[in-house]
Amino acid sequence: MFDRSLIDEFFPFDEFRDGQRGCLEFILDSFESGKRCVIIEAPTGSGKSAIGLGISRFFNSVYYLTIQKVLQSQIINDFGDSGRIVDLKGRATYPCTFYDRYDVKSVSPADLARIKDEGVDCNHGFCRKKQKRYKIPQCFPSWAAGGFGSLSTLPKGMEYSACPYYEQVFKAINAHTCLMNFSSFLYQTHMSHRFGPRELLIIDEAHQLEPQLLNFISITLNDKRLQRYGIKLEEYQTPEEYWIFFQETDIITKILMLIEDAKDMEDVKGQDEYLSLAKKLRTFIHCMEREEEWIAEYEKGKDYNTVKLKPVFVHTKSYPYVLDYGNRCLMMSATILDVGVFCGSLGIAKSDIAAFRMKNRFPISNRPIYIRSAGNLAGGKKKMPEWGPRLLDKVDEVIAEHPDDRGIIHTHNFAIADLLVGKSVHRDRFLFQNNFSSKEQMLKVHGMTPGSIIVAPAMHEGLDLIGDLSRFQIICKLPWANFFDDKQLARRVELDTRFYVWLCALKLCQSMGRSVRSEDDYANTYVMDGGFMNFLNRAGSMIPSWIRDAVQVE
Ligand code: SF4
Repeated sequence: MFDRSLIDEFFPFDEFRDGQRGCLEFILDSFESGKRCVIIEAPTGSGKSAIGLGISRFFNSVYYLTIQKVLQSQIINDFGDSGRIVDLKGRATYPCTFYDRYDVKSVSPADLARIKDEGVDCNHGFCRKKQKRYKIPQCFPSWAAGGFGSLSTLPKGMEYSACPYYEQVFKAINAHTCLMNFSSFLYQTHMSHRFGPRELLIIDEAHQLEPQLLNFISITLNDKRLQRYGIKLEEYQTPEEYWIFFQETDIITKILMLIEDAKDMEDVKGQDEYLSLAKKLRTFIHCMEREEEWIAEYEKGKDYNTVKLKPVFVHTKSYPYVLDYGNRCLMMSATILDVGVFCGSLGIAKSDIAAFRMKNRFPISNRPIYIRSAGNLAGGKKKMPEWGPRLLDKVDEVIAEHPDDRGIIHTHNFAIADLLVGKSVHRDRFLFQNNFSSKEQMLKVHGMTPGSIIVAPAMHEGLDLIGDLSRFQIICKLPWANFFDDKQLARRVELDTRFYVWLCALKLCQSMGRSVRSEDDYANTYVMDGGFMNFLNRAGSMIPSWIRDAVQVE
């Protein structure tokens, strides 16, 4: 069915890295044998984007989903030339061009001068600001679908709309490969309904699929505006009680009334939010009817009350919300770790899956893992006064071995970060995540400061510390998830203990992958938690050999 002789032509580079060709053949073989989902675990440096795009050429229409917008941009920069791939981001990414095209009199001269100088994005464009809408006729020629504008000629290079956002939507709909991040994809498929199924769905960073879905389906409902329709949220212990309460108060009808109110007030954002809320509540009611388990958390406020409703599992949602948008699905990540846990969480049947684990190409000598045990670090904050000073000494020892190097310390919680930032003898070298308005800003300072060390309670993903941005990394503590303040996670873990181990392995492996980003790159990893070796045994095959083989016994 798939012509293998096209692999070379379809692959976006002239040469293959180790394992890439074999991986492409595995994917094609698996699809050909009838598997609907192929799962590829590909460590950093495997070139998984090239693999995905090579496979995409065997299909006529493709979605390529990433979690992070930065990866989306990277793919366009590296492979966007062909014109086959079109990326679509949120409105805020595109500039509103209305002010350049029309003589706007309804905006004050000062505002207009500022807008022309600084620009304004399509989320805050003229249509939103002045007409409380998401689009305006003057940005569409009369012949465009749904358009009725006065434009007779579109600006150069535009085919559908003079609005850069709608032009990009149009291009993405018609593109061979539509590249989106997860939140855009869920919005476009479930809120705007502009996009339908395609032949192939590629999901990059697939280990994030479950939390992304969980976030999209979960509900945060407050009674701030509902109170005017007589609804005051009460405190109940179970989601079933809220289900009954919603039926008794006919809450969906009240939310539809709030949508009408928002329309009357020309509040576009409010309309969207209530529309989304009504959809989510219908999903919740449907889940209750099917006896699916959810968690309810109530919070009493000064002026209004809030209830959060979250499903314990999302396995009944992964197909209708995501996987059904591809006849076939290719899921890739550096950290699948356990196909059973991963597929169980998404409700993917074993018979539908073929999985392949790629090897790490980077030399072990470039990425040694040293255990510098500070002993048992268990017992949480209560026990921290006992083990905290030991950990601090060990961290200071390691930093002293790297007097001029940049590095990163993964603390995995704020208590340890506070301890180090407050008491380390090397604290003058620290950059604390909390002291910067954005990760980008922190990285800029880090790159300009010799010997600086990032102290990161929660930066185990999405950080590319290439070259001398990091020559050493410290893992203070095994990153066990804290479920004491999270009822959904607590219940999830109670029902699936293997998932708890998987979560810890996931954070650990992701953290360890931050500092060695290419074949020539190198960095030492130091683990301070005395429970590390036991954890490797407990996690078993979840921990890939690229980590196990790099552990040095000193
Ligand atoms: S539709 Fe027109 S006015 Fe609205 S954001 Fe786009 S360019 Fe600006």
